[in-house]
Amino acid sequence: MPPRDIDTSRRPFVLVWELTQACELACKHCRAEAQPRRHPDELTTEEGKELLDEARAFGENQLVVLSGGDPLYRDDALELIEYGVDRGLRMTLTPSGTASLTPERIDAVADAGLRRLALSLDGASPEAHDGFRKEDGSFRQTVDAARAARDAGLPLQINTTVCAETVEQLPRIRDLVEDLDAVLWSVFFLVPVGRGQVLDPIPPERADRVMEWLVEVSDEADFGIKTTEAPQYRRVAMQQQRSGTEKPDRDGVGRRTGITAGDGFAFVSHTGELYPSGFLPEPAGNVRAESLVGLYRDSPLFESLRDPDALQGKCGACEFRNVCGGSRSRAYATTGDPLESDPLCPYVPEGYDGPLPDGTPAD
Ligand code: SF4
Repeated sequence: MPPRDIDTSRRPFVLVWELTQACELACKHCRAEAQPRRHPDELTTEEGKELLDEARAFGENQLVVLSGGDPLYRDDALELIEYGVDRGLRMTLTPSGTASLTPERIDAVADAGLRRLALSLDGASPEAHDGFRKEDGSFRQTVDAARAARDAGLPLQINTTVCAETVEQLPRIRDLVEDLDAVLWSVFFLVPVGRGQVLDPIPPERADRVMEWLVEVSDEADFGIKTTEAPQYRRVAMQQQRSGTEKPDRDGVGRRTGITAGDGFAFVSHTGELYPSGFLPEPAGNVRAESLVGLYRDSPLFESLRDPDALQGKCGACEFRNVCGGSRSRAYATTGDPLESDPLCPYVPEGYDGPLPDGTPAD
């Protein structure tokens, strides 16, 4: 079911469960500040199964992303995939590109009924990707895993982080996404949390140029594109359509309606905290003590994030707030208030004369 057909006040389109923060890698952008060892208070296998039962209560075909850290660090990952598939959940996985991601493991998750495998590529060469991931060999292992997924008939998603260090790589990564036969390119605009605080985001005007380019790629490519933590992609697409620079006979803005933290997206941490997103670490409650469904639907935090009229600053005054609303995670990371303006956006609503985030270009 596409995002626009889901009532996001009732259920998330994407429910992420961070199985563990343990990972062999120590990537520069890591939200989870991944650790070499598992946390002793992680949700257990049985608690995880209860969580998947609750996820099923959202409705049929609920999408669940098993994330990390490296979710395959847990030896019950396969059991949990099978459990979710048996209950009718659409299970997907975001493993780390390491030597342990072998073709045998990929075959095993495919046989278990996994719907999609998501791998990260933040550079189009070993030097660029491995430098970013701080691990020699990660590029080769990721590309090999992508090919193994294709051989196993498993649909592939490529995730890419956009920041000052990676932005020049994007055209070559786009070509690689095509070469690897990925079905979706998920382009994540850096939010300065976790280890990502040491990286530089791109300036707001550059972000708009990148999004304009992504709209063009999306019109031509055989794979889909989604932005993460950059709902202004929809504003950019609408502006291009209005100015006639986007082809009107293609998908247009409709396919670009999307989901944001707490409004179509929810994240369960390795210890059971429910966050609106992994980049907005403000808990609505803990699934060990409270109902996942109840927290998603009725917690004041999630309800406020779904109310465009609760937005503050220029996002609150913006005519695009119903289709965009800005990244609530980036607002939280930079101001401490998830309802404030998104500093990645250069757009200033007409007539708005209130405060602007640092870095907003002057007219
Ligand atoms: S000002 Fe806020 S709501 Fe408006 S386009 Fe920018 S990020 Fe989106």
